[in-house]
Amino acid sequence: MQNHGVLIANEAIHCWKNRSQGGLILKIDFEKAYDCVNWGFLLDILAKMGFGEKWCGWIKECVSTVSMSVLINGSPSKEFRIERDDTVLFCNNDLEELSNIKRILRCFQLMSGLRINFSKSSLCGIKIPHQDVVALAQDPDVGSSGRKDGEAIKRVAGEIQLVWGQTHLNQLFASESADLFHVYLQNASVCGEEVGKNPKEFFLGDTIDKRKMHLVKWEVICKKKENGGLGVKNLLIQNLSLLAKWWWRFNSEPDSLWVKVIRGKYNLDHNCWLPRMPTTGKATNLWRDICNIGEVSSCIGSIIQEGFRIQLSSCDSLNWRWSSDNHFSVKSVYNQWESSGQTGSPGLEVLWKNICPPKVEIFAWMAVQSKVATRSVLVGRNMILEGQSSSCPLCSLLMETPQHLFLHCQLSWAVWSQILEWWHVQWVCPDSLDAHLRWWMDSKF
Ligand SMILES: [Zn+2]
Repeated sequence: MQNHGVLIANEAIHCWKNRSQGGLILKIDFEKAYDCVNWGFLLDILAKMGFGEKWCGWIKECVSTVSMSVLINGSPSKEFRIERDDTVLFCNNDLEELSNIKRILRCFQLMSGLRINFSKSSLCGIKIPHQDVVALAQDPDVGSSGRKDGEAIKRVAGEIQLVWGQTHLNQLFASESADLFHVYLQNASVCGEEVGKNPKEFFLGDTIDKRKMHLVKWEVICKKKENGGLGVKNLLIQNLSLLAKWWWRFNSEPDSLWVKVIRGKYNLDHNCWLPRMPTTGKATNLWRDICNIGEVSSCIGSIIQEGFRIQLSSCDSLNWRWSSDNHFSVKSVYNQWESSGQTGSPGLEVLWKNICPPKVEIFAWMAVQSKVATRSVLVGRNMILEGQSSSCPLCSLLMETPQHLFLHCQLSWAVWSQILEWWHVQWVCPDSLDAHLRWWMDSKF
């Protein structure tokens, strides 16, 4: 299902849940060539050919389950399921309507050549007793009688839950689809923080039982490189920015089905340019969260409020202030948030020239800010052990500060001098690593 489809389905189910009579959902499974193979037969053949039980078990796992995992930095991630697009039909709790849908589907099958796997399609009732749904699925007009067995709807799904909140986080990561991102993460304030923790733990090396020494603050790491950070995305804001796209779409796609569904359901007429909560009745959590990102309490509320401008002319249109072409982009929301909250820390852009491995760049970035674990830093954090000296292990003369270790210590100084002598460069040892770095990067030798 497309992301719009998820939103529409969510709204439709919500509607049924809130009114007296429920409805039916038919999930259609289109047959793939892959589905025509009888896997039981394949496994029997494998066994007959003398393959061991374990091997056959593996093959069975491979063909019958769709869980996958990916290698992240060499270690497998949590398993996730691969899902494909589904076609979902909604109809009233009415036998005639359901059998008509099936007749139409049979015609579609004949015309398109695309076979529908009725035995793998499922029927699901909203506010309809389970046994009634089972009875409908088995009804002669809908189910198997008089037709070949493959035409029966054998699966009857349980009650559907509305798309909501963190339960979908794992699926979200599995789908790796930016499109689904802004559907599933609707409870942005909660989920975003949750998601935000992951890269943080990754960078800072924390696990549940162990907290590593944090030499650089997470907020600094999230800053742009021009502002002295590492440019790691703040996923909470990224997620809100993605949700903000629904605001733009609400206006720019007036003819799309989802906008019609929302306008119809919540009584939003065409004077209503942007997402708004209904004045009467309840909205789904998904719609409420989309509306809420424009509120003052939202981290990007003011960016949204100031960003959308109605351009009055012969044909009124909606403009987006934060992009040069007046068109909304997720990136522009994020950039705007980033630049609004930045205090001008010293830029270290000289560092990021891709002339050495990222590991080295990041180490230099930390060293310049005196955020490497030299003895002086450890003493400052009360981390030096009793009886250990805080003096430089190379010369034992002065305290081991980052400046001393990498620049002023006799040995380090000698290394720098030697290297510069190869290029016949005269130098005066600068007093800080930062000054040294800038001089080094600016030199044309
Ligand atoms: Zn030294």
